[in-house]
Amino acid sequence: MSKTYYKGYWMVTNRCNLTCSYCVLEDAPHQLKAELDLNSKKELVSHLYHKLNFRRLTLSGGEVLIIGKKPPSDFIELLRHIRQFRSTNPSENLEIELYTNGTYLEDPVADEMQGVVDLVAVTIDSTKNSLLTQIGRNNQKFNNYYERIVQVCGRLSKRGIELKLHSVVSTKNYLTLPDEVSSILDALDAVGAKISCWKFYQYMSYDAPDTDIAHSVPKNVYEQFQEKVEKVLAGCPFRLHFKDNEEMNASLFNILSYGNAQYMRTGDTWSSSPRTQDLRSYNSMEELFSKHDIDKERYHRFHSLAPCTV
Ligand code: SF4
Repeated sequence: MSKTYYKGYWMVTNRCNLTCSYCVLEDAPHQLKAELDLNSKKELVSHLYHKLNFRRLTLSGGEVLIIGKKPPSDFIELLRHIRQFRSTNPSENLEIELYTNGTYLEDPVADEMQGVVDLVAVTIDSTKNSLLTQIGRNNQKFNNYYERIVQVCGRLSKRGIELKLHSVVSTKNYLTLPDEVSSILDALDAVGAKISCWKFYQYMSYDAPDTDIAHSVPKNVYEQFQEKVEKVLAGCPFRLHFKDNEEMNASLFNILSYGNAQYMRTGDTWSSSPRTQDLRSYNSMEELFSKHDIDKERYHRFHSLAPCTV
C-alpha cells in the first residue's frame, strides 16, 4: 500500500537578532508571547510526524537558533528531540532542513546538528559590508556578516552537512549581485565549502507599502537578472532555482510559530491569506483539508513527497 508523506516549512520563531529591511516578522510583543514554548514545539514535531505524516521539515524563522532564554540551548534540545525521528528507512526518516543567519552557528552547535540536520541554507545578498549594513544583515554585535557566513559554510561542509545558498533579489542588489556570484563561490571554495543549490528569490510583497517601494523589482527586471546569473553560472555543478512571486504565492503553506498554518488561495495576498487552527488539533491531513479551503491538488504538487511503499 502506498502512503503519502509531506514536507513543511515551519517558522519556528518570529524573533530575530538581525533587522533585514526586506523582512516582515510578526514580532509585536503579543505575537512573540503567543509563540509555542519548547515543550509545545516538541509536541508539534511529534504530531506532524506521527499523525500528519510529515517526513521533511524546514526549520526557519526569524532565527531558529535564538529560541529560548539562553541561545542556542533550546535549539539544541529541539534537535535532540528530533533525533528520535531519524532513520535509515526513508519512509520513517524525518529529513531536516535549516534556514539560519548563522550568528550562533559555532562549532558545538554544528556538532549537535550532525546526524539530525541534512541541509542548511544561508543567505548571501552581497559581498559588500556597506550594502549588507544598509540591508540590516549587520548590527553592532553581529557584524561582518559576509565573512562570518562564509566561515559558517566551511564549518558545515567540514561536517558533511549539505549546503544551499539563498539570495533575495531586490532593488538593493539586482544590479551588483550578478557580478559577485563568482567571487562568492571562490570565497566558499577557499574554506572548503561546496553548495548543492543556489536559490534566488524575487523580493515578495508582504503588503507593507514602504517596504515594497524600497525593495520590489518588477518581473521583467527579475527575468533580466536571471539571464545574467545563468550566463555567469553556466555549467556550474549545482542546481539553480529562480523563485518568482507566482511560485512563492502558489506554494505558500507556512507553519507558524503559534502552531497553526497560513496558506494562500487563488487571489489571496499576504494579508488576506487564511490560517488554520493549531495543527496539533487535526488527526490527519484529510481532516485538515476537509475543514479548510486549501487547494488539495496544489498542496500535493508543492508539499507531498514521492510516495513510499509500506
Ligand atoms: S535574518 Fe532572516 S529572519 Fe532575521 S531579519 Fe533577516 S531575513 Fe528576517
